[in-house]
Amino acid sequence: MHTWLILIGMVFFLWMLYRRGGAAQSGVLSFGKSRARAVEDETITFDDVAGVDEAQEELQEVVDFLKRPERYTKLGARIPKGVLLVGPPGTGKTLLARAVAGEAAVPFFQMSGSDFVEMFVGVGAARVRDTFKKARESAPCIVFIDELDALGKARGSGAMAHEEREQTLNQLLVEMDGFDPTTGIILMAATNRPEILDSALLRAGRFDRNVMVDRPTKDGREAILEIHARNVTLDSQVQLGKIAISTPGFAGADLASLVNEAALLAARRKKDKVTMAELEEAIERAALGLEKKGRLLDPQEQRYVAYHELGHAVVREALPGLDPVNKVTILPRGMSLGVTWSLPEERFITTYSRLRDEIATLLGGRAAELAFIGEACTGAQDDLARATQIASDIVRKYGMSEVGLRTFDRDRAAMVNPELAVASPRDHGDQTAHSIDSEVQRLIADGLKKATEVLEKHRDAVETLCDELVDKQQLTGERVREELGLPPREAKTQTSDAD
Ligand code: ADP
Repeated sequence: MHTWLILIGMVFFLWMLYRRGGAAQSGVLSFGKSRARAVEDETITFDDVAGVDEAQEELQEVVDFLKRPERYTKLGARIPKGVLLVGPPGTGKTLLARAVAGEAAVPFFQMSGSDFVEMFVGVGAARVRDTFKKARESAPCIVFIDELDALGKARGSGAMAHEEREQTLNQLLVEMDGFDPTTGIILMAATNRPEILDSALLRAGRFDRNVMVDRPTKDGREAILEIHARNVTLDSQVQLGKIAISTPGFAGADLASLVNEAALLAARRKKDKVTMAELEEAIERAALGLEKKGRLLDPQEQRYVAYHELGHAVVREALPGLDPVNKVTILPRGMSLGVTWSLPEERFITTYSRLRDEIATLLGGRAAELAFIGEACTGAQDDLARATQIASDIVRKYGMSEVGLRTFDRDRAAMVNPELAVASPRDHGDQTAHSIDSEVQRLIADGLKKATEVLEKHRDAVETLCDELVDKQQLTGERVREELGLPPREAKTQTSDAD
């Protein structure tokens, strides 16, 4: 009896939903309709964006293509289908995508990755299909997906594989493969966690162009402040350059709200202009919030991070045959406090001496802490893990050490024959295990020694560069080479080195 009542109740409930859907066009029946908003007359241009010059330069090509596709197609040039904007929140990724649409005067469709992950399986996939249908009708245009990671997480990851998300992701991949860039649809997406994206999304012909959007440097912050100050009345005594100096770690969005906060304070005080006093107070308020999020470094910490990063950079440049340094920054990014970027040259095999120099480079950070600060700091965790991995590979995988010309690579053996791993967790005896351990230790200790020697030799250069890095927050590889008296170098693509 009860069961019947429940059943009737459910049928009635569904019927109500159905009716509401039919009447309001927003219920069950329109679940599969995309929520992408089209902004037809995008008025934002590159004039509204500042402090992200490199990203802007890279995106200029997309603008040119949207404006004059025939120039590219005539030459047979392949246009990127998908551009992935990578960077911390609030640095202007959405703004940049809108500016690309504004510059090219094409419609802009925006949606968020989390819009696609609904309760019902299949709804997200239908939404993706619908969005692309709309986009095809209004091509040339830009489709922008914010929070791509919400939808594009590696499939099968997480405690519970999420069927809805996977279907949606698959549909997105199908759509991406299905359109030809000459139709003029350019897909742009933003994420601050590129490492968790499904690798299928990053393959050639999909999001094959990555554009880094970093937190701005001092000059960038000043330019961003100028943009946002256009809308408020500033006192003639205000020096935005000074505000820029006091706001390291602030992203574009933080600066926009800082200007707004100062304007609110001025209004509350019944002033007719925003003065330095309000701006400074607004910085303090904003900084408190950022400090809680662990994003602000005090001047001493900045110096520590600068020594650490320069340790990597200087050792990398001073040892021959390693990939050149592209950029050193102490702008916090994600979990890391600073980064040394190097430009890897294409290479398929490497040598023993190069592996050992890589270890020395990784330990350059710790060596610099010891040499210039006088004691170790906590920032070298990831470096140590990576150095240990290389040292262990030298011994276990490549047979390059005293321990012997053979592999001690249990994982590889287990890959060929999984039973082997279960039957015998190790393919060597205790004595050998001991030698492997001490050999790995020795390789790392040698790396530290080598790095220290290099840094001692270039002590003055490191001090000069450190002052400069703390001041500008970013140095080019060229500048590092110049200070070390090395000739200019060049290379192709970019990867991050260490934290
Ligand atoms: P993201 O998409 O990277 O999280 P948004 O583009 O949504 O950041 O930025 C939010 C707001 O912050 C923008 O609308 C703009 O007002 C301001 N902003 C962020 N970055 C910049 C920048 N580089 N130049 C000017 N304004 C910026």
